[in-house]
Amino acid sequence: MKAIWLYGPRDARLVATEKPSRKPDEALIRVESCVLCGSDVHQWDGRRFHGPYPHDFGHETAGTVVDVGPAVRGLAVGDRVTWYLQHGSLAEYFAIRPAELAVGKLADHLSWEEGANLQLLCAVLRGVANGEPGPGRRALVLGCGAVGLSALQGALAMGAEEVVAADLIPFRRERALSLGASATVDPGRPGWHAGAGEFDLLYDCVDEDRSPQGDTLDLALGLVKPLGCCVVIGLSSELRRIDTSRIVNRGLRLIGAHHANMARCREIMALCCQWVADGTIRVADYVTHRFPIEETQQALELAASQAPGVLKVGIQVAADA
Ligand SMILES: [Zn+2]
Repeated sequence: MKAIWLYGPRDARLVATEKPSRKPDEALIRVESCVLCGSDVHQWDGRRFHGPYPHDFGHETAGTVVDVGPAVRGLAVGDRVTWYLQHGSLAEYFAIRPAELAVGKLADHLSWEEGANLQLLCAVLRGVANGEPGPGRRALVLGCGAVGLSALQGALAMGAEEVVAADLIPFRRERALSLGASATVDPGRPGWHAGAGEFDLLYDCVDEDRSPQGDTLDLALGLVKPLGCCVVIGLSSELRRIDTSRIVNRGLRLIGAHHANMARCREIMALCCQWVADGTIRVADYVTHRFPIEETQQALELAASQAPGVLKVGIQVAADA
């Protein structure tokens, strides 16, 4: 079967490998779609991965169950699924261990790309929930890539009163407005934080902070009300500098998105599947560019370029998906 393996920094190759044999506690998936994550790009370019090579690749995936081991509960041949989290799934077939994952079943009307984006949504909404958004609460989302757009929609779905979104790129700010942001700000503009207001919650969804005005997270922490909360969701590719007195003097909570509570993760995945199926959260437009699996190297180069019109890059794995 076809699979993508990394052979070194910026070197993703299509290889022919054995179709995985399913173990008793595994389900075999025919992979239909895989979308590239920011963390995939950092793994590929060597910033967050240093081997050993060759190494399997990809994790935001959706596909069809084609075989189920006798020890697997709750899955049947023909189910359309995504899962959080098991790496190495950019391949035509992939064996998952459902007992260790949060498996989501896709409504029939969802596309394979929506299914693959549900993986990211589940990861992000864990962090959104950690911040306890709810009625009367105002949130500021930093970064309007797919992570930030998911945090924005998730906070609204969980009852936040209002969400303001910040990004340097106009195309991404427009996306945020179309997905429910009440306003947007450009953190590249001098003095942007002076008129942005105050917030109960801050969601940091930044990959690489290119603002010439200083670290956006540091300035934004100054906008969080006393006893407010900042959740760090984006996997930053660089070190950040923050003035910790902003946290100390106002008793802020600074917390991360991910945790090892799989029962909670399954609850979030079920919510994500429901909200995408009923249109509460829209992930269908995240993928702006598509490539066949044979052109994964070019897809990664485009995703790494962060060109203005690029949001998420999709890889079509099955020929007829
Ligand atoms: Zn991811």
